[in-house]
Amino acid sequence: MVAGNDVELLYNNLADFIKAYHQTRFARVVNATGIIIHTNLGRSILPGSSLQRLTQAGGCYSNLEFNLDTGRRGSRYSHVEELLCELTGAEAALVVNNNAAAVLIALETLAIGKEAVVSRGQLVEIGGSFRIPDIMTRSGARLVEVGTTNRTHLRDYEKAITSETGVLLRVHCSNYRIVGFTGEVSNVDLAQLGKARGIPVMEDLGSGCFVDLSKFGLAKEPTVQEVVASGMDIVTFSGDKLLGGPQAGIIVGKKHLIDQIKENPLNRALRIDKLTLASLESVLRLYLDEVNALQEIPTLRMIAVPESVVEQRARHLLSLCKAELGTSCSLETISVQSQVGGGAMPGQNLASWAVAVQPSNMKISQLEQRLRHAPVPVIGRIANDRLLLDMRTVAEDELDMVLDGLRYVLTRQNDESAAVIPPNTEKTHADA
Ligand SMILES: *Cc1c(COP(=O)(O)O)cnc(C)c1O
Repeated sequence: MVAGNDVELLYNNLADFIKAYHQTRFARVVNATGIIIHTNLGRSILPGSSLQRLTQAGGCYSNLEFNLDTGRRGSRYSHVEELLCELTGAEAALVVNNNAAAVLIALETLAIGKEAVVSRGQLVEIGGSFRIPDIMTRSGARLVEVGTTNRTHLRDYEKAITSETGVLLRVHCSNYRIVGFTGEVSNVDLAQLGKARGIPVMEDLGSGCFVDLSKFGLAKEPTVQEVVASGMDIVTFSGDKLLGGPQAGIIVGKKHLIDQIKENPLNRALRIDKLTLASLESVLRLYLDEVNALQEIPTLRMIAVPESVVEQRARHLLSLCKAELGTSCSLETISVQSQVGGGAMPGQNLASWAVAVQPSNMKISQLEQRLRHAPVPVIGRIANDRLLLDMRTVAEDELDMVLDGLRYVLTRQNDESAAVIPPNTEKTHADA
């Protein structure tokens, strides 16, 4: 039964209902959270050159698995393998659907029915369903924990090695830090131990990066090249975290092991599609020149952008808003902290600037909720009863969208329009 004022409401908002019905459910948003690699908002956005390659790969036939030299069947992996070897110094490389898949197939290949030795300090949960012990169970490897939560020594690994050992595994503590009286075994030492005992050594780097980001005020993290050079046999990392490319799981390492992984039947189930391959290749090519990579790859650009540029952008948005939004809210620019996100570099912040909005005619939670339903949703964060729009993750050409969103929410006459918003039932949870 539809009550009288429901019908009125329906008529008032009919145009909105129809528009909403025809809108795609998977849509663009403006990321004003200041979290650069935001898993819930799609992690990395791609450089312009990748977008052209995506269109071509999707809209045209290609040499995906066709060798133009021989005229026979080729390998889809050949398009990026050489490039990955050149960039990382590895002997061989393979790309699968995502890093979770990379860890799964690598463990399954190296240690099915055998033992995988891991430090107790590195049994990470990335978020939702990716937990190292669970992935290990699914791979058929038996987890052997060594050391303690805060300290693990080389002798702990040595003692755990038996005839059943399939792999020594190191996992990057992506989204947490163990501080205080701590110690872990370096990749160099672990690689040496593996070599001496004839056991493959693998590192799940999580958010692998080709560029040393310590020059932008972040803590030093080993680059993929450094981890490969340390002697690790297999290194896995994501395509869409710090690398700034499409979703992918990249596996680099020793040729005889990569060859085994390539032949694993799981590889067919976990393989990447041509759109991913096209955009990944174009992103990897940008890394052939680091200066170029830092300018072109949005994830790196947002990390590297100077604070003063972000502040200018915040001032620009402030002046646009002040001119248009009148007395519907009070506004100011404030200094805030952005995060890299993506489970990379926990506890580390980048100095940034936000526009803080305090509405005069609604609650702050209403503003935040209604902005999520603007024609282009704008996602910010609430702090101290104000909505913060962090400008580190908002592009200059998105400022108009933010303004449109605020105008749509704050200055529309019919306040009842809020009723078209479905109840907020989704649970939000952090996920690297
Ligand atoms: C993010 C992460 C993963 C999962 O990578 P996806 O690309 O999201 O599948 C695995 N291991 C570590 C250490 C990570 O940080």
